Amino acid sequence: MHKHTIVPDSTAPSKADVPRAPHPLIGAEFVVAAAEPSQFPAAGPAEIAFAGRSNAGKSSAINALAARNRLAFASRAPGRTQQIVFFRLRSGDYVADLPGYGYAAVPKAVKEIWQDFLWGYVTTRPTLVGLVAMVDSRRGLKDSDEALLQGFLPSGRPVLVLATKIDKLTATERRASLTGIRARIDTAFAAFAPAVQVIGFSALRREGIEAAEQVIQGWLQESRIGGAPPQS
Ligand code: GDP
Repeated sequence: MHKHTIVPDSTAPSKADVPRAPHPLIGAEFVVAAAEPSQFPAAGPAEIAFAGRSNAGKSSAINALAARNRLAFASRAPGRTQQIVFFRLRSGDYVADLPGYGYAAVPKAVKEIWQDFLWGYVTTRPTLVGLVAMVDSRRGLKDSDEALLQGFLPSGRPVLVLATKIDKLTATERRASLTGIRARIDTAFAAFAPAVQVIGFSALRREGIEAAEQVIQGWLQESRIGGAPPQS
């Protein structure tokens, strides 16, 4: 992947010689739903976290990548799932499904505990190698998304933004959405922006799956050879 690349949602990765991506999330199994850090699995294997505003399509994205219907539970009641759910991949690595954020109806006190929990995980978890951020393609990057990235990117680790529900947009709207998300990241994060990739994604139509798998697989492989996660 190249710096600043926006992978078009409607086409396969451009290089014909890119090997077919393995499917890192297929076969994922539930490990634990942690309501506090003491319940986290012992830090050891590499971890990829999935985050997003409530209703952004995070559960659907995880399920689509895992090719399962109900691995991650769709948030029927936004604001209620204040746990970090860990899944173990076939590779032995972990996926952490972070609680949805940005839901207006959650009482402020609850929201603060929840944000501290999420923020603490994202900023201090030593084995977290990359963050997959779900952003609703119709809404674009919100302040709460930006705040999360602000907490994560200075560590030098990479982010994959999945612009979700892209099937709901026309071709012109898709381009505008991806360009808008990219522009906001470039403006907000300047030096860290090259560590962020943006991919159009549809769980419904299974678009962007292979591109997302390649990025995730790349992070996991990089973590195994002991180097820093890829920056581009
Ligand atoms: P979460 O709260 O971020 O986990 O979001 P969910 O995965 O539960 O999805 C929220 C809503 O968006 C649900 O009504 C989903 O059916 C819908 N949704 C999720 N992904 C897609 C998609 O790719 N296309 C469309 N059209 N709708 C989607």
